[in-house]
Amino acid sequence: MKDSDLKALTGLCAKCGTCRTVCTLYPERKAEIAVARGKVALIEAALSGEDGNAEAMQEALTDCLLCGRCERACPNQVLVEEIVMKGRADLAEKVGIPAWKSVLFGRVMKSPGAAGIARKAAAAGQRLLPGKISTASGLHYRFPDGLGGKRRTVPKLPARGFIESLGKEEASFGEVMLFVGCVFDHVFPRVGRTAYETVKASGKSVAVFRDAACCGLPAMVSGDRRSAASSAEANLRRLRAAEPGSIVFPCGSCLLMFRRNVFSLIPKGTPLYDDAVFVADRAVDYASFLLSSGVLDRLPDPPEGERAGEIGYHDPCHLTGTLGKGPEAREVLSRAVGPEFAEMAGADLCCGYGGTFNVRDYPTSARIGENKVTVAARGGTKVISTACSGCVLQMRDMAARTDPSLRVVHIAELVHQALFRK
Ligand code: SF4
Ligand code: SF4
Repeated sequence: MKDSDLKALTGLCAKCGTCRTVCTLYPERKAEIAVARGKVALIEAALSGEDGNAEAMQEALTDCLLCGRCERACPNQVLVEEIVMKGRADLAEKVGIPAWKSVLFGRVMKSPGAAGIARKAAAAGQRLLPGKISTASGLHYRFPDGLGGKRRTVPKLPARGFIESLGKEEASFGEVMLFVGCVFDHVFPRVGRTAYETVKASGKSVAVFRDAACCGLPAMVSGDRRSAASSAEANLRRLRAAEPGSIVFPCGSCLLMFRRNVFSLIPKGTPLYDDAVFVADRAVDYASFLLSSGVLDRLPDPPEGERAGEIGYHDPCHLTGTLGKGPEAREVLSRAVGPEFAEMAGADLCCGYGGTFNVRDYPTSARIGENKVTVAARGGTKVISTACSGCVLQMRDMAARTDPSLRVVHIAELVHQALFRK
C-alpha cells in the first residue's frame, strides 16, 4: 500500500471517539493512544512528515488486539485493522521485528516438518514443568513465576498431531478440502479429528490438506509481510492445484486470512492473485459447511434439556465480527445439543488473545480473558464452545486460571458427540 492510500484510509476518521467506547483495550490502558482514534492520529502525524520516534510508534501500533470492535462501531467505516497492519508492516521494515518472531514466522511456521518437530520438543520439555492442573478441558501445565510465567498455563501437548495420526492414503483426495490449521493439528488434535469426521459425515469425499504452511496471519499481524506472503503463496498454489469444490476451515482466523487478508499481500493481475480468488471463493467456515451439506439432518433428536442452558457460544472476533458468521454456529449448536445451548453472557466480548498480543503482554491479555470467562460462568455457562483456535487456546488457559471446572470446546467436538452418540 502506498502512503497516499494509507492517507486516504486515515482521512476518513472524523475523530468522533465512538471507537473509544467499544475498544477492548481502553478500560485497561485508559489512554487515547490505545484506541483507534489515537493510532490514526499518530499515523497521520507520521505521514505529514512530523518527526516521530519509530520505536515508540511501533510500540503504540503493536498495543492493539486487532479485535475489530472499533471498526465495526465506526460511523465512517474507517478500516482500522488495515491501517494498523499497514503501519506495523512499514515500521517492521524500518526497525525490524523481535528475533523470536523472525525465527517463528520465517522458519517454523512456514514449514510443516519444523512445526511437528517443535511440538515434539515442546512436549518433551513440558514434563519438566512442576505445576499440573487438571481441568475439564484436559491437563494444563503451569509455568513457574520464576520463569516469567505470570501463572500462565499451557495445555499438555500430544505425542502425535492429528494429520500424523491419519493413515498414509487416508483423506488424500476429495471434493471437500479440510484446512485444519496449526493449532488444531498440533496442539488440539481432537478438534482436527472431530472436524474431519463430522465433515466426512456429509457423505462427500474429504481430503485433509497436508504439509500446510501456517495460514500466515500471525506473521502478517506482526508486520512480517514477507513471511506471511511466503506462507500464503505455498498454500495457495497447492490448494488451487488440488481443485477442491469447497475448503472448510474449523478456525475463523485461518479463514479470515484466505477470505480477506491474502489479497493485500499479492499483486493484482498475477496468476497467484487468481489462485487467491479461486481459494477465497471456496473457503467456508465449519458451521456453514455443516448447514449446507446436510450433515445436521443426520443428527438424532437432541437430549431433553436436563442441563438446559449450560452450553454457550463465544463469538470469535474474526469469525463473527469481521466475517459475520455468528448465526451459523448458533444454528448448528441448537440442532446438535438442543436446549442445552443458550445465549451466553458476554458472548461477543473479546477473549483477549489477540495473536501475538498474548505473548507480548500476557498480564493484560489474561485480565481481559479472565473477565470474559468469569462473565460467562456467572451467567450459568459450564461449557464454552467456539470456532477459532486462538480463542480455544486462550479460554482454556483462562478457565485453568479461574475455574478449572469450566470446559472450553470447539463446536466440532459437540457435533461429533451428538452425531455419534451411542
Ligand atoms: S469511530 Fe471511526 S471516525 Fe470515530 S474516531 Fe474512531 S476511527 Fe475515527
Ligand atoms: S482493534 Fe480492538 S483493541 Fe485495537 S483499537 Fe480497535 S477495539 Fe481497540
